[in-house]
Amino acid sequence: MSQRSLFDAEPPAWELDAGAMVLAATVVLPGGPVGEFDYSIPDAMADERKPETFVEPGRRVRAPLGRGNRPVIGYCVAVGLKPASPSRPLKALKGVIDTESLVSPPMMRLTRWMADHYLTPWGQVLEGVVPSGVRGKAGTRDVMLLSVPTHVAARLTKLQLPPKQAEVLKALAASSKPLSLKQLAMRADCTSAPINALRKAGLIESRVERLATDGLLAEDMVVERLQPKKLNADQVRTLDTILGAIDSGEHETILVHGVTGSGKTEVYLQAIERVVAFGRQAIVLVPEISLTPQTVGRFRERFDRIAVLHSHQSDVERHRQWRRIAAGEVEVVVGARSAVFAPTPHLGLVVIDEEHETSFKQDTAPRYHARDVALQRTRAENVPLVLASATPSLEAWRYAQPGAPERFRLASMPRRIGDLPMPAVRVVDLRVDGEMRGALSRPLCQAMKQALDDDGQIILLLNRRGYSTHVQCPACGYKLVCDHCDVAMTFHRQDNVVLCHWCDHRAAPPVVCPDCRSPRIRYGGLGTQKLEAEVSARFRGVSIARMDADTMRRPGSHEVALDAFRRGETRILLGTQMIAKGLDFPNVTLVGVVSADSALNLPDFRAAERTFQLVTQVAGRTGRGERGGRVIVQTFDPDHPAIQAAVRHDFERFAREELPNRQALGYPPYGSMARIIARGASEPLVTAYLDQVAGAVKQAAVETGVKMRIAGPAPAPITRLRGEFRRHLQLHAPNSDPLRAALKAGWQPIKPPEGVRSIVDIDPVDML
Ligand code: ADP
Ligand code: ZN
Ligand code: ZN
Repeated sequence: MSQRSLFDAEPPAWELDAGAMVLAATVVLPGGPVGEFDYSIPDAMADERKPETFVEPGRRVRAPLGRGNRPVIGYCVAVGLKPASPSRPLKALKGVIDTESLVSPPMMRLTRWMADHYLTPWGQVLEGVVPSGVRGKAGTRDVMLLSVPTHVAARLTKLQLPPKQAEVLKALAASSKPLSLKQLAMRADCTSAPINALRKAGLIESRVERLATDGLLAEDMVVERLQPKKLNADQVRTLDTILGAIDSGEHETILVHGVTGSGKTEVYLQAIERVVAFGRQAIVLVPEISLTPQTVGRFRERFDRIAVLHSHQSDVERHRQWRRIAAGEVEVVVGARSAVFAPTPHLGLVVIDEEHETSFKQDTAPRYHARDVALQRTRAENVPLVLASATPSLEAWRYAQPGAPERFRLASMPRRIGDLPMPAVRVVDLRVDGEMRGALSRPLCQAMKQALDDDGQIILLLNRRGYSTHVQCPACGYKLVCDHCDVAMTFHRQDNVVLCHWCDHRAAPPVVCPDCRSPRIRYGGLGTQKLEAEVSARFRGVSIARMDADTMRRPGSHEVALDAFRRGETRILLGTQMIAKGLDFPNVTLVGVVSADSALNLPDFRAAERTFQLVTQVAGRTGRGERGGRVIVQTFDPDHPAIQAAVRHDFERFAREELPNRQALGYPPYGSMARIIARGASEPLVTAYLDQVAGAVKQAAVETGVKMRIAGPAPAPITRLRGEFRRHLQLHAPNSDPLRAALKAGWQPIKPPEGVRSIVDIDPVDML
């Protein structure tokens, strides 16, 4: 490449025209190639008084690339003087795209950290962080605004003009604000001809402004305001800890570990009030699924100006929110993972609610974890970070213990509001309960009957959608798997299809074994559709709602289902993990976990943690009212430590038992982890490539002398996906620095062969 990269050595001294410097922009390219490239800035683009064409960090520019000077778009990340080299002059930028910077200096540093930490090209990180609606200025357009210059207005009556022009000028001068061409033509009841004549004569001046095109500019919804609640002793202590950090003006991470219903949300709402009183902004990250009108409503009741950011927003709406935030018009930003990048001008606090949720990790490049990015951002901006959960991630928990490498402060809230007791949990051992009929054991059935008799409501959790979760032939052992994936097909009775949950491949359900033609082919395994059918057969006349990815496809259906449940129109709510989170319904007197084992059997070192979280969180949905509540957990593995701890609502017990397992294997939170996944249609090519990478990574580890454990290459748990073979390599080291060093040396330089794609996932959450 003829273009010099930043990492190139400086040219030799004799090449330099003594002292000659050029103004250069450093540019990174979202579409590759990787690296930072310097371009000279033409004079026309160096004039701050011409904001339309001014080059500054955070704007996108047009640049010529490579020998053929192919035009590409890149982000300017720095501007500065560079020594001029007469023999190798820098190429000049060709143009400026954005009329203002899209990336503030702190955000520039944050994205640079991400590029380095997640081994993702900086340009790709920037493209992932700046929403496309912001880049494209969605929902706005350039409008020419007309006004009468003051010197013209002063001698308006003395001007000798044709009658139509005089009329136009009078109309415009009478307007309190500038008008568009169309508006003026309407007011003066004329064509554009007299207006243009006046512009030519210099009697009307014009400027271009970017205005919203849609009607979304309605003010924030008006909601009845609620006063802060009077806090209990645990809440006061926790709030004081957070306020102490806010007042110190320094960064600190506070882990708020409070049981479900202990009043965590109320505490951070009050902490945000302090931040807002100082004229600063707060960012609250919540799992996507909790971004319901109810959650958002809790913020609207307490703050005048909030912005909501989530993934189902239109480009126009997102752009509008982004601008409001950047302009400092917003006090609180509530959003899913990507709201961690919200362009608040004076950040005062970041809160991550349900900190343990896996949805805070992004599963496409840049594969960042919002918790780690938030930690980096709050450190850089010297503000506190609050993590809240009833079931903290073991990462956060360990960092809150004495002697950990990171030091989080722990604030505990072990009691529910109003000293409501935690619900009693009973375990039903599915191995010995001979009275199992279908999905529901006798104890669960009885408890359901009683809850309904007492006018209570019921939540049933089953974390598998569909009707039957596998189709198998007892005669020959054949198992129906997807044509394109190494995944069992699920039978969906509603649509009468067998479906792959990974690639959405559909087929007609077989009536005989496709292999041996036996008619005894069996549909087995329990999904939410079958559970719904069983429950409605067992409890006739009782209204039931099912919430899973199949019934919740349309936006808003989540709210409709929850509203009906809130009003008591639905008596039994059953569904996948989407019903396990955040719901606060005092009339729920029974929670049934139909199978606690589905997460336990996943090939994932976090399987126990996921099971503990899921059972504890769903159990926390009951016992929130005067009437108390109870929980029944069905399992084939009643002695499993995760289930035993969940039954006792005892997070600390779970952590005490699980952490040594992690430590023994060097798994997070003891040490860092990286995963390389290679995939392609040709299995030999994928294998050969990953073997080569593994060799190079191992050698890099030996050369750097760091202790690193390498597992694989091996087939990934899902060996085939969408027709592609998948293999992976897992690296473990005491921290992420040696991992990244080995990956830079062993993975980055090896280009995968045609037809093979390869990704690196730092601190992976998805192990499939
Ligand atoms: P968490 O976030 O820990 O699940 P919430 O903050 O949602 O708990 O509180 C649970 C319930 O208790 C909510 O209905 C909330 O309005 C109420 N609540 C919280 N703090 C108080 C308080 N100090 N006094 C009375 N009610 C409270
Ligand atoms: Zn068969
Ligand atoms: Zn498939």
